[in-house]
Amino acid sequence: MTSLSAIPKVDRMLAWPTVAAALAAHPRSLVLAVIRSVLNESRTLLLRGEPLSLQEPDLSQRFLAILAVRAAPSLRRVVNGTGIIIHTNLGRAPLSRAVASHLDGAAYGYSTLEYDLATGERGNRLDHVAPLLRELTGAEGALVVNNNAAALLLCLTALCSGREGLVSRGELVEIGGEFRIPDIIRQGGAVLREVGSTNRTHLRDYQEAIGPESGLLLKVHQSNFAQVGFTAQVSAERLVPLGREHSLPLLVDAGSGSLMDLTRFGIAGEPTVGEYLRAGVDLVTFSGDKLLGGPQAGIIVGREEYLAPLRRHPLLRALRPDKLTLAALEGTLRLYRDEGEALAEIPVLRMLTVSVAELRTRGRKLLRRLRNYLPSGFSLQLTDGVSQPGGGSCPLLSIPTILLFLSCDGLSPRKMEDRLRNAPVPVIGRISGGRFLLDLRTVLEEDEPHLVAMLRTLGTLQ
Ligand SMILES: *Cc1c(COP(=O)(O)O)cnc(C)c1O
Repeated sequence: MTSLSAIPKVDRMLAWPTVAAALAAHPRSLVLAVIRSVLNESRTLLLRGEPLSLQEPDLSQRFLAILAVRAAPSLRRVVNGTGIIIHTNLGRAPLSRAVASHLDGAAYGYSTLEYDLATGERGNRLDHVAPLLRELTGAEGALVVNNNAAALLLCLTALCSGREGLVSRGELVEIGGEFRIPDIIRQGGAVLREVGSTNRTHLRDYQEAIGPESGLLLKVHQSNFAQVGFTAQVSAERLVPLGREHSLPLLVDAGSGSLMDLTRFGIAGEPTVGEYLRAGVDLVTFSGDKLLGGPQAGIIVGREEYLAPLRRHPLLRALRPDKLTLAALEGTLRLYRDEGEALAEIPVLRMLTVSVAELRTRGRKLLRRLRNYLPSGFSLQLTDGVSQPGGGSCPLLSIPTILLFLSCDGLSPRKMEDRLRNAPVPVIGRISGGRFLLDLRTVLEEDEPHLVAMLRTLGTLQ
């Protein structure tokens, strides 16, 4: 057995050409930390009696492998080939390039974040987006916080604390990441009053539940699941007169919150925020980074009467968005002034509405670019399939799409998936029916060069 004393000392390793070269390119502290990792790993393996080479070329190689992982940023770009457009784990909505100048202005210099240029006095950070939100939704007023969960928490705390929030049993949903509507209600100091049964809730169920303790009517978009069969929920529209009659605010958590009617693209049953407000809903909350296609944010629009207590509440200070979010949100919302521009420039909307014919054309071009460059043994074909919006939008909707079916003799779909996931620019695909597939609908056009480069080097990836 090799003895522990055969393990090289740190100083000796620092003189090795590979390590010396790394010192020129990386901070000394990082190089030292990586050397220690290599040495600790060697010690552990030796103590376990496992075979191990302590030769310079082998340890240098280990050093480079660990250095590559540690030197790379953790939050990195990936190519989304899953077909899930609003992918929670892959960062939900990719921002439009059109907001880059907004981000630039806010990020690298001083800005008008809370400064009124007209008077030279203090301004309000929410004034950058509130007028746009009013313009786009027809709302009387608007507020922005960090995410939709925060928006709900603020509404319940400020409007319903110590009183009952009435919600249909069929809408007590859990959204990804352990976020449950009943928890938010309780966290806001409100008492959850469940209305109706799991599959059916009627207007009279709400009527019977209303009493002196009632504080608010809450309607939650079912988002990530759908009820089929013997079901009934009361529409927001039908709850409006009930709220008015009892002077209770009606709050709709719209989840995704669409600003544009997408019915003509086959995406139905997702009322726009404006439609909710026109139906008489008092407050609507929604996310900035789902169907809207902007940054993570929680948007609250509706009647000033109910927004006023939110503006005064100390919780708002804790939930307020930062300048980068506001810059990206303002940039995204401005695109919505022209529907054609929004559809062309906002990646989520583009991906939702791009035609199969266009995807097929893109797929054929990709095949041509790769034809003579795929490593031997690998083969690539186009095939039909379906994509899903994801992110708690339209759970039953599946959109026809074009998939790249990648295969290789002697390489299982799992191995293929693993190899591309660990590529220098990770490519995330899916395995379905024993095949490794990449959905072109969610591969951004600007990601195509990455995809081509990764597929060309498939043979050399580990
Ligand atoms: C996604 C979602 C939320 C949570 O929104 P975040 O912006 O992730 O906090 C709340 N309610 C519904 C109905 C949702 O779909």
